Amino acid sequence: MRKPMVAGNWKMNGSSESVKELMAGIKDGMGSVNNAEVVVCPPAVYISRVAGSAADTAIKVGSQNICDEDKGAFTGEISGEMLKDTGCEYAIIGHSERRSLYGESDELVARRFAAARRNGIKPIFCIGETLEEREQGITNDVCARQIDAVIALEGVEALADGVIAYEPVWAIGTGKTATPEQAQEVHAFIRGKISALNADVANGLRILYGGSMNPGNAAELMGQPDIDGGLIGGASLKSEDFLAICTAAG
Ligand code: PEP
Repeated sequence: MRKPMVAGNWKMNGSSESVKELMAGIKDGMGSVNNAEVVVCPPAVYISRVAGSAADTAIKVGSQNICDEDKGAFTGEISGEMLKDTGCEYAIIGHSERRSLYGESDELVARRFAAARRNGIKPIFCIGETLEEREQGITNDVCARQIDAVIALEGVEALADGVIAYEPVWAIGTGKTATPEQAQEVHAFIRGKISALNADVANGLRILYGGSMNPGNAAELMGQPDIDGGLIGGASLKSEDFLAICTAAG
């Protein structure tokens, strides 16, 4: 049985004050969350204080990226060791905003995945197609290509050390959610593809859905057999909405 997981991607939002309030709100409501693993991914500058605030709770902390290198002259980057040191258990890897706005290739994303693993951080590995790719009918090919880059570098067993987040790019931050059937179809494809290489890895692997998930659509999406939770952007910035999604997951 895969334990559901809900991760909040706060993106580049927040201030010292708002982060404190958001954490207080989430901590207050954690009693209503039965069975889901709850992760928050603040901007890097707030990771330490969020990790401090989460220390006496079940809330886990993740980063929004990780450097593919471990040390040295990489101005602006943050290493896996540093993230671990500040309290991160997870790292979002290959988010579509990183791929499209900052030119991160499949190969670079795979190297970031590898960096997370060797530093004992669990990757939240994001994949997904653009609207154009969906309209061309190549959604599965795109997801397969993105996964294959990690498998080529690290082997299929490496996927067991993290989670995959299927995030159709056209659904991120747009209010356009994939229907439960659309999402389930891709999740089933992803699991089937991995299962063809290693059934145990595929059965144990949590595949999250991300893209305009909110308290109104979360239960139906996460009720699909291959959807094991959510990666939440906008709705993770309001503690009540985030908690409602975490509760629906459990
Ligand atoms: C995301 O950025 O990972 C995301 C899913 O955003 P939103 O929920 O706002 O669509």
